[in-house]
Amino acid sequence: MDTVITRFPPSPSGYLHIGGARTALFNWLYARKTKGKFVLRIEDTDEARSTEESVTAILESLEWLGIDWDEGPYFQTQRYDIYTEHIERLVASGHAYHCSCTPDEVTAMREEARANGKNPQYNGCCRNRNLPRADNTVVRLKTPDTGVTVVEDVVKGSTAFQNTEIDDFIIQRSNGVAMYNLAVVVDDLTMNINTIIRGDDHLVNTPKQILIYKALGADLPQFGHVPMVLGADKSRLSKRHGAMSVGEYQKMGFLADAMINYLVRLGWSHGDQEFFERNDLIEKFDLTHLGRSASMFDLDKLLALNAKHIQAKSPKELGEHLLFHLDALGIEAQNDPFTQGVIETLQPRSKTLVEMAQAAVFYYKDTIVFDEKAAKKFLKPDTMGMLTQTADAIEKLTDYTQENLENIFKQIMEDTGLGFGKIAQPLRVAITGTTVSPGIFEMLLALGRDKTILRIRKAAAFIQEMA
Ligand code: GLU
Repeated sequence: MDTVITRFPPSPSGYLHIGGARTALFNWLYARKTKGKFVLRIEDTDEARSTEESVTAILESLEWLGIDWDEGPYFQTQRYDIYTEHIERLVASGHAYHCSCTPDEVTAMREEARANGKNPQYNGCCRNRNLPRADNTVVRLKTPDTGVTVVEDVVKGSTAFQNTEIDDFIIQRSNGVAMYNLAVVVDDLTMNINTIIRGDDHLVNTPKQILIYKALGADLPQFGHVPMVLGADKSRLSKRHGAMSVGEYQKMGFLADAMINYLVRLGWSHGDQEFFERNDLIEKFDLTHLGRSASMFDLDKLLALNAKHIQAKSPKELGEHLLFHLDALGIEAQNDPFTQGVIETLQPRSKTLVEMAQAAVFYYKDTIVFDEKAAKKFLKPDTMGMLTQTADAIEKLTDYTQENLENIFKQIMEDTGLGFGKIAQPLRVAITGTTVSPGIFEMLLALGRDKTILRIRKAAAFIQEMA
């Protein structure tokens, strides 16, 4: 085949949703894999429902996912002339005609057909009348009365549609605006699209689109209709199953790499491999392994994959993404060695970046507020001496290392006869304000010597004040 050219044509009447993102991803991956091209087109002809905010939201989500396009975005509303030109060509070549039947007349035809046990369709009344264009005429495609239109599909195999089921459908309204199927085909043709992967909710349109291709004397693209994404209750994924918009997952602290890893697995497989890095996906993606059965969206699986991607990234890479979530919590941080050290302590235990940011907050605070229960239990008069001893010993260290910190602990355990936990828990409360934190030594190291000493001394002072 020539250079593969795929496309993603969202209708901008909302955000980029899970299903749309998956379609975009499949097309993008195939283009990247084959070193082809990926075209972005905004299908905004439904002017009442299309908004600029929606276009912006869709573009932002694609950018966040790292799905970049080589051409576009094209806007259908800027292409009406091109549609008209093609419609005129179809009329001139006898493949389409002007029709002056009123909507009431067409309804009556349908009813009559139904009453006679036939398909309720437009009856072709203006087909051979050779009417000129007028204010009240629409343009209809002359469709075959016999035979079948076959959709060859890389996912579903071939499906034959009886041509008797397809009436002479309208391709241009009386106000001159092209109908959806016509616009899609003209766009795909003029943008040289040769591979179309889309949801199987569009399969009903495909035979009509094929008839338009044929009427224009054009070659057909390769089609692949993928099954819909379902919710846990096996109905089509929708808002009631939880967040639908890709932007919401970004806010919830998912990594774009985890998101695309999860999305691709909703309908494509490579053996039983679950975890894919972006480049690995580009290398392995193919159309032959697009699945025929619908997949179910499962938030727990997405969370588990996100945790794995968080673990697989370097602290520096994660830093870039974490800052956004720290900022949302009012923490001004830099992606510097301090933050990267913080990340290292949280990487093994964070399912999302939001979780990580929340768990990181204590590192950045100037003042630690002690949790009441934790303070009552662990910041007691008899721990004050141990805390001061620890701070003194840390102050005297020439090297602030894990080994030296461990030695300080050993020494205090020896001197006081206290167990490890009896030392670690009060320290943990002193440092974080709570009893849960990353491992004590890695945390102290990430926090740094000065802040560690300061916090321990403040906790000792707090005990004294309380006493
Ligand atoms: N604009 C359509 C949608 O958002 C896509 C049409 C197509 O892929 O042919 O569902």
